[in-house]
Amino acid sequence: MKAVCWQGTNKVTVESVPDPKIINPRDAVIKITSTAICGSDLHLYDGFIPTMEQGDILGHEFMGEVVEVGSEVKRIKVGDRVVNPFPIACGHCFFCQRDLTSLCDNTNPNAFMAEAIMGYSPSGLFGYSHMLGGYAGGQAEYARVPHADVGLFKIPNELADEQVLFLSDIFPTGYMAAENCDIKAGDIVAIWGCGPVGQFAIRSARMLGAGRVIAIDRIPERLEMAQKGGAEILNFEEVDVGEALKEMTGGRGPDSVMDAVGMEAHGLGLEGFYDKAKQAVRLETDRPHVLRQAIVACRKGGTVSIPGVYGGFVDKIPMGAAMNKALTFKTGQTHVHRYMGRLLERIQNGEIDPSFVITHRLKLEDAPTGYDIFKHKKDNCIKIVLKP
Ligand code: NAD
Ligand code: ZN
Repeated sequence: MKAVCWQGTNKVTVESVPDPKIINPRDAVIKITSTAICGSDLHLYDGFIPTMEQGDILGHEFMGEVVEVGSEVKRIKVGDRVVNPFPIACGHCFFCQRDLTSLCDNTNPNAFMAEAIMGYSPSGLFGYSHMLGGYAGGQAEYARVPHADVGLFKIPNELADEQVLFLSDIFPTGYMAAENCDIKAGDIVAIWGCGPVGQFAIRSARMLGAGRVIAIDRIPERLEMAQKGGAEILNFEEVDVGEALKEMTGGRGPDSVMDAVGMEAHGLGLEGFYDKAKQAVRLETDRPHVLRQAIVACRKGGTVSIPGVYGGFVDKIPMGAAMNKALTFKTGQTHVHRYMGRLLERIQNGEIDPSFVITHRLKLEDAPTGYDIFKHKKDNCIKIVLKP
């Protein structure tokens, strides 16, 4: 089959690789019909994650048709149309029982690596390097899905791929991040980052009752999409974000703040943890530091929600402000399994059509171009779907 393979920093290629097979009786194999490139893939593309190896298959946002199931798979059948959640969960460990599926204890055989590098391990993740399980990703024609009965989510035929594909990640991610803001009716929520995650966070915050959403970015078409989603917008290259937020909230600050940017804005600090990480360290850029800005802007007693991905350390967090303002912090890889059903209902009710975020539809073969334009925000790119 054809698959998108990581070849090193800023380099992906489409290669012919062996088809995936059932390895474990709880596996399924799916034929992929749609698969997306995520902001999280950019951390791999940027070379921020030290345990990628040449030839690793990328991709964690995918859906398709089940073509083979292992002998212990009961709920999922050949022919089912399914969306795949990006974390891999066993469904019965301490964490899965508490609905914390992205923290599953049983699906990362290389947890020791993640623990050595970052001090902790979430669940195994598709297409996200060896320290997170070394699972082949879904930017490919086929993928093997472990624990198929726990993860794969059946989709009614009347909904198009593009309406449901993002149940795999960015819709639940934006939604959980908004839920983590603990929104009370009428609240003001400020969201840094108008990428795909930020876009879903904006709409989710509105659904959950926010009175006002203020969205921050610098890319005009992303700000425009945010505005269409009901946000007031700030371009951080044009205004002092801290001052503007004060002014817009009568001096008090937003009730909750969200970092939907992650390490892009300030580089990653895995240095010293792992030899290969040295090549991954990027110097702090001249961009404003989102997390610091968000903590300082948040009102007293407010909530800081962090869907943006971090690894290692982030330096100089204003803990004094956080502690003395009695802020609450909530973060994490998204517990996607928890949200798929309830968000499918919102799609079916017509509350949202997630395809609004797609700006590019490309062939799988064009993935190298896709990564380049998505990373560099060329050609007004916001979200790319690849069609194997
Ligand atoms: P993206 O790269 O397309 O979007 C990031 C946006 O942040 C860009 O529009 C960029 O212009 C903006 N930005 C950069 N610096 C900024 C600053 N200083 N202030 C305001 N905006 C700034 O990525 P995405 O797909 O939207 O993902 C966003 C983050 O969410 C990434 O870190 C990604 O890894 C993470 N993510 C987390 C989960 C999860 O489970 N928690 C899941 C998916 C993605
Ligand atoms: Zn993703």
